[in-house]
Amino acid sequence: MEIGFIGLGNMGGPMSRRLIEAGHKLTVFDTRKEAMEPLVKLGAEAARSPADVAARVETVMTSLPSLTIGMKVVGGEDGIIRGNRVRRYVDLSTTGSRAARDTYEVLKPRGIVQIDSPVSGGVAGAEKGTLAVMVSGPRDEVELVRAALEVFGKVFYCGDKPGLAQSMKLANNFLSATGMAASSEAIAMGVKAGLDPSLMVDVINAGSGMNTATTQKFPRSVLPGTFDYGFGMGLMVKDVRLFLEEAESFGIPLE
Ligand code: NAD
Repeated sequence: MEIGFIGLGNMGGPMSRRLIEAGHKLTVFDTRKEAMEPLVKLGAEAARSPADVAARVETVMTSLPSLTIGMKVVGGEDGIIRGNRVRRYVDLSTTGSRAARDTYEVLKPRGIVQIDSPVSGGVAGAEKGTLAVMVSGPRDEVELVRAALEVFGKVFYCGDKPGLAQSMKLANNFLSATGMAASSEAIAMGVKAGLDPSLMVDVINAGSGMNTATTQKFPRSVLPGTFDYGFGMGLMVKDVRLFLEEAESFGIPLE
């Protein structure tokens, strides 16, 4: 399938590499030239802008770091809506359901179908194709891109309502953030009491406190002191804020 891919960062880089390796024909764009180079070496075509991508292919995927950038890439001066070939827009970023609905309203009058498809499982999951891929949008359109999404991992269809997969993703990331914050507090308490943090992680992972912070983030990046697990803290702050906004929009008091 011919696919445009915009945003070739920690997630978009390995995801687009996997699409090429699975036999898809890619047209890529990122504001950082160096992010495009390795994919061009693998056979992708480099585009000049999101509009250029959308002028070349019917299916455009994005993996972008903020809501503002996402909106600009879709509806800005050089945005996807300026391309005349694009038929469907598959957003793999985490944006929350309100932004997804806003984008849907921009795309609908132009006859461009929106498919929300946020992912979970981190950079390691993007590299290995073991992500949880949440999808919402018209079912027949989702079926058209299912094979491409399956290159990223396990696909979960959440429904046709715009933004529904985003709500699913925010619930997941809220739990992931909670695990990280709570695990940090628990281990800090133990260390102050005199326990070895590696021993603590081993015990927790053999017991009922286990979560992705203790199985992955602590062993790989907190205990070795590198603190980089491929997910910028700013992205997690974005996701927790979006979760709180979304929960409050349903009248769930959070304070
Ligand atoms: P990133 O910052 O590593 O990558 C974003 C990429 O977008 C960069 O290469 C950047 O140059 C590019 N970009 C920025 N502005 C652009 C523009 N105007 N046009 C084209 N490209 C532009 O971010 P990431 O970690 O890959 O995350 C991307 C999305 O995936 C976010 O929504 C994030 O919440 C979500 N996500 C991340 C992870 C993770 O573990 N990193 C996991 C699941 C979901």
